[in-house]
Amino acid sequence: MKIIVLKFGGTSVGTIEKIKKISKIVTSFVNKKYKVIVVSSAMSGVTNDLINKSRKISDNFNTSEYDVLVSSGEQIACALISGRLNHLGYKSRSWLGWQVPIVTEGTHRSSRIVSIFKKRVLAYIKNGGIPIITGFQGVNFENRITTLERGGSDASAIMIAKFFDAEKCIIYTDVEGIFTTDPNITKKAKKIDKISYEEMLEMASLGAKVMQPASIQDARLNRINIDVKSSFKNIPGTLITKRKNINKNKIITGISFTKNDSKVTLIGVVDKPGVAASIFEPLFKNAINVDMVVQNISADGNKTDLTFTVKSEDLNKVEKLIKNNKKIRFKDILITKNVSKVSIIGVGMITTPGVTYRMFKALSKKNINIQVISTSEIKISVLINKKLVTKAVSTLHNEFKLEK
Ligand code: ASP
Ligand code: MG
Repeated sequence: MKIIVLKFGGTSVGTIEKIKKISKIVTSFVNKKYKVIVVSSAMSGVTNDLINKSRKISDNFNTSEYDVLVSSGEQIACALISGRLNHLGYKSRSWLGWQVPIVTEGTHRSSRIVSIFKKRVLAYIKNGGIPIITGFQGVNFENRITTLERGGSDASAIMIAKFFDAEKCIIYTDVEGIFTTDPNITKKAKKIDKISYEEMLEMASLGAKVMQPASIQDARLNRINIDVKSSFKNIPGTLITKRKNINKNKIITGISFTKNDSKVTLIGVVDKPGVAASIFEPLFKNAINVDMVVQNISADGNKTDLTFTVKSEDLNKVEKLIKNNKKIRFKDILITKNVSKVSIIGVGMITTPGVTYRMFKALSKKNINIQVISTSEIKISVLINKKLVTKAVSTLHNEFKLEK
C-alpha cells in the first residue's frame, strides 16, 4: 500500500475556490493509486482571528480553552475539503485530532505529538476512503484538546507520515519551495532543489518562514522525506532529506536573516562563577529567548562585558528584569535597537576552510560593520545594523554564487 500525506497550509485552503483547486490535487493522487491522507491547516487568517477574540475576552485567557478555541479553524477547513471530495464522488470524511486520536504531551499551546492510534483511519483508507485530518490539534492524557504551537500543522503532517509509514509527505504552500534567500531581498534568490534537515532547521529557525522549525526536527529524527511545493503551480519544489541524498557541490546552501533584534551590553560585570547564570535566570523564567551571547574580559581583568541579543518586542521587559535583578551588579547597560542577524548556512562549510574569512572580507568591502559573531558547525551568523540587511544578503549571495 502506497500511502502519501498531503498537507495544505492556510493560504492553500484560504478561499472556497482554493479548496476546490486543492481537492483536484488530492484526487490526482488517488487516481495514481495512492492511498491519500490529507492534513489541513485552518483557512488563512482564521487562527489569528480566533486568538484576537480570546484576547478581547481576557488578557489572561485560560490556556486549555485557548486550545479548544484556536484549533477550531482546522475543523472548518477539513469539513469543507471532505465535503468537496464527496461532491466529486469520492469517499471522504474529516477526523479531528481527538477522533483519531493524536495523543500529545506537554503544556497547552505548545504540546508535542507522542503517538497516533492509526487503527480506525487505516481501516478507512483500506476501504477506499480519504481521511482529512486536522493539523495543529491533538488530545492529551486528561482527554483535553491541545495545540502544537503556531504553524503546528506541519508537525502534524510529519508525525502522521511517520506513524502511517507514508512513502512521502508533501507540504503544499503558497511559495514554490525553499529559496536560497528571501526573493523579496534579491531577485537572484533561487529555488533549492534539495536541502538537508540540518540546513533546513537552521534556515527555518533563523528566519525563513516556510515551515515550523520544530516540525523539521521531527522529520529529521524520523527520516521523513518532505517535498515543499506550491499548491497553485505544478512545478517541482524543494526536497528536504538526509545529507546522504544530496550531492554537494556548493559550500553555502542558503542565507537567512532576522528583522527585529536588539542588542544589550552590560559593562563592568563582576567576573566570577555564576554571574552569567544570575543574569539569564529571570529571562529564562519569563520565557524570553536569548540568542547570541558574547562575553569579553575587560581591561582590568576583574570585570567583564557581556553582550546578548533578544527579539525587540521583548526588549522593554528585558531591560526591567536586568535593572531589577538584585543578584547582579554592573557599571552600565547599553542598548542598541534595530540590529539584524544575517546567517550563511551550509553543510559544505564543514569541509571547506576559509568560509568565515570570505564572509567577513565580502562584508568589509561593502563597509558593513560586524557587531557580534556566532558560529556552529554549519552556520556563521553576524549581527549588523538593520538598515544594511539587503546589502549584506545580496553581497553574500554573490560571494558564494548562490544564483548558480
Ligand atoms: N492554523 C495554525 C496556525 O495558524 C496551524 C498552522 O497553520 O500550521 O498557526
Ligand atoms: Mg503554516
